[in-house]
Amino acid sequence: GNNHRATSEVTSGFVGGKVPLGLKRKGLRIVVTGGAGFVGSHLVDRLMARGDSVIVVDNFFTGRKQNVMHHYGNPNFELIRHDVVEPLLLEVDQIYHLACPASPVHYKFNPVKTIISFLSFVLGCLLNPTAHKTNVVGTLNMLGLAKRVGARFLLTSTSEVYGDPLQHPQVETYWGNVNPIGVRSCYDEGKRTAETLTMDYHRAAQLEVRIARIFNTYGPRMCIDDGRVVSNFVAQALRKEPMTVYGDGKQTRSFQYVSDLVEGLMRLMEGEHVGPFNLGNPGEFTMLELAKVVQETIDPNASIEFRPNTEDDPHKRKPDITRAKELLNWQPQISLRQGLPLMVSDFRSRIFGDRSDANP
Ligand code: NAD
Ligand code: UDP
Ligand code: UDP
Repeated sequence: GNNHRATSEVTSGFVGGKVPLGLKRKGLRIVVTGGAGFVGSHLVDRLMARGDSVIVVDNFFTGRKQNVMHHYGNPNFELIRHDVVEPLLLEVDQIYHLACPASPVHYKFNPVKTIISFLSFVLGCLLNPTAHKTNVVGTLNMLGLAKRVGARFLLTSTSEVYGDPLQHPQVETYWGNVNPIGVRSCYDEGKRTAETLTMDYHRAAQLEVRIARIFNTYGPRMCIDDGRVVSNFVAQALRKEPMTVYGDGKQTRSFQYVSDLVEGLMRLMEGEHVGPFNLGNPGEFTMLELAKVVQETIDPNASIEFRPNTEDDPHKRKPDITRAKELLNWQPQISLRQGLPLMVSDFRSRIFGDRSDANP
């Protein structure tokens, strides 16, 4: 193995700039489920650059071939069109399990099917899949795969497991405040179940597992029309449409740039700790403040339009990242004002068809 891999590439995100030995290992066989999606494709870029063999498993529900096309022809890269709700046989060292209908537009698309499919799983029937089924059956299959081949398994869970939190900022030891019967619960409860399954396999089958609780993340390659707030505001401002602020716009979120997240995920996988770990940027913004940053970045004349808020919208969210700082030596490096322009240039070229930076 080559231990002289570009240190600069792996140091970004370190507190103090020390590189743990684990990150220098090379030539692993790694599955990334959901690897054609927004976060997954950036992770794949880093793993490929490190010299690993990467297998992307994706059903292209929200992911796009364009996100990973630049690796086509590289013998270390494979792309499999597959739904993780179906069993899968592979021989690998590590599994990054990202596959999930993650955006509100997609997971609220068919809530009834989503709920029924969870019951169907419990009852052993065969009904229709969406968010919950992917989270539950998909995670079960990937855990079964990890168990069979002795691979290390990383689950990308979410800050949504904290629901509408009664503790602020959120620490990993907080159990959350989730409405089990609300419109978001197919996602929240699906991820909570996925965490449970992951810990069950860890305890019962001694599987090596890692759990990341990801807070709102943005960057190039985000779906343009998936309804998340950063992609909405940026697309709206670029198209000279009003930015739609839901409710009074005083609810808060903490926005993390995608490269910081990928660094955290890799550190978590290579480190010695199961987690769960909050991975997010503690910088907290109201939606009105976010709209202002978008105005500053794109168009000072961009207007705002208020819309009724969605049901069960969490009032505030901000990660406590003490655990990740201490145990993974990780913290975000890129502020919202630094990261947003990088996303805007990608959105600009995708919306207006300028191919000059098609592969950000
Ligand atoms: P994304 O929609 O861009 O990526 C998800 C990928 O999974 C897509 O490529 C999609 O086609 C694929 N997929 C969905 N269902 C599948 C199935 N049944 N079989 C195979 N592939 C399937 O979303 P993302 O933002 O990149 O999210 C990646 C992961 O991170 C998800 O697990 C999500 O829950 C988690 N996460 C993301 C955020 C965020 O702000 N982006 C926040 C918290 C958690
Ligand atoms: N599984 C898979 N690939 C594998 C091994 C298992 O997709 O290489 C699936 C398998 O179909 C099952 C799930 O993972 O539905 C859980 O597997 P496990 O062996 O833990 O449970 P069991 O099959 O004994 O119920
Ligand atoms: N939101 C908004 N305008 C939009 C989309 C979302 O004001 O066009 C708000 C939404 O009500 C929520 C916040 O932005 O309070 C974050 O929403 P998103 O769906 O991006 O993430 P999540 O709610 O899952 O954290």
